Amino acid sequence: MFNSNLGHLDEVHICPSCQTAMSCCEAPPVHVGDGLGWGSDVLFICLNNECPVFKKGWQHIELQYGHKGSYRCMELPGSNEQNVMMVASEYAFTGSVIDIEAVKMQNARYTKEQEAVAALATCVESHNLEPIMTLILDESASLANRQKAVACLKQLNDLSCIDAIRNHTFRDTSLTQECGMIISDILKAHFKKECPYCAELIKAQAQKCQHCQTDL
Ligand SMILES: [Zn+2]
Ligand SMILES: [Zn+2]
Repeated sequence: MFNSNLGHLDEVHICPSCQTAMSCCEAPPVHVGDGLGWGSDVLFICLNNECPVFKKGWQHIELQYGHKGSYRCMELPGSNEQNVMMVASEYAFTGSVIDIEAVKMQNARYTKEQEAVAALATCVESHNLEPIMTLILDESASLANRQKAVACLKQLNDLSCIDAIRNHTFRDTSLTQECGMIISDILKAHFKKECPYCAELIKAQAQKCQHCQTDL
């Protein structure tokens, strides 16, 4: 889906037969009939069960081909050329309707990941923690990209990364461990430790926590 032109998802196609909005559906992998692809990831299909083309189609296919089926109106993205698709039941394509908002969100997340990866190249010299944290805390980002970010985290040696990492649940246990080791290195480099009672950062040699007043 990421390669398809997102602009097409916003297209409004009105069924020429019933005048209702057509649904944006994932295209089946092959063009049933001639074995060719549709040349598009998505198709706009009228899923209205009251659509005249669909209602009359059952009888037509029964008479013409002697089996059960009907037609749905279909248009390709970027085109208003009217097509019909044969369907075996009223449920065909109802499971392939694309959640356009979800696709847009996935795409936005993916773009953000790519931007953060590009920013990693200069994040250490410019002391920019943001792209590093974006990647480390994004459970949908690729593990390879997150590991690159972890390597930069170590070099940046910035205490302000600690809270967000401690508050994050990593699905990948190797990342939990790597980040844990880096945090203890950063704490050591700054002569700090985390209070075992309230988790605030305190001096490494403190005997009493200045935040929760607990004796250590
Ligand atoms: Zn229709
Ligand atoms: Zn404390």
